[in-house]
Amino acid sequence: MANRFSQIKVLIWDFDGTFYKPNAALWQDVRQAEYQTIMNHTGWSKKKTVIEFEDTHKHKFGSATQVAAFLSRISIVEAAVEMENYFDRRKYVQRDEKLIALFAKLKNFRHFTLANGVIEKHKQTLAVLGINPEIFEEMVTSETVGVTKPNPKGFEYILDKTKLAPSAHLMIGDREAIDLVPAKQLGMKTCLVWSDEKSEIADATLSSVYEVSSLFLQNPQNPGM
Ligand SMILES: [Mg+2]
Repeated sequence: MANRFSQIKVLIWDFDGTFYKPNAALWQDVRQAEYQTIMNHTGWSKKKTVIEFEDTHKHKFGSATQVAAFLSRISIVEAAVEMENYFDRRKYVQRDEKLIALFAKLKNFRHFTLANGVIEKHKQTLAVLGINPEIFEEMVTSETVGVTKPNPKGFEYILDKTKLAPSAHLMIGDREAIDLVPAKQLGMKTCLVWSDEKSEIADATLSSVYEVSSLFLQNPQNPGM
């Protein structure tokens, strides 16, 4: 039986919550950074900021960075850069031998990252994890395309770079609505990681990121859910 991922040539990686397990303490720091950015530009109280943020996030934009940009009346890139001043994801990660081994196994693929955040900070975090940023042909953020996921622009940008059929790309991420839905809509294959519950929309669900290489085995022992 042909492996359902045998057409894949390009792996597109989300960053936060994908290269390392989603971490409640970090998400809390990120959310506080979004609030702080909004407060800087509006002069609102924390309480009003939280209410406005929640309302806009729920009804207008799936991307929290976009919410911060909208409420602050600044661009998404400006919001992404400003937010990064208020948290440091390196606090929550360490050298990861399993991740290093995973990328060694996946060395014959082309790799991109497509993430919300700032490229320089992602590179610094990869250094802590023990991953060489040069593995990636390009690290794509709102600095590259002006908008954050789930906007399809970043996905389209990568398709334009690789010149390959969408079905030759596998998007790997920890959030269905942000990472996987837009990829799937463009015809990419999708993989949800760090989930114990089978995804209804992804082509594969894995309980950790370390199993991504198992998707490409000829006779997978553990082909994912
Ligand atoms: Mg993520």
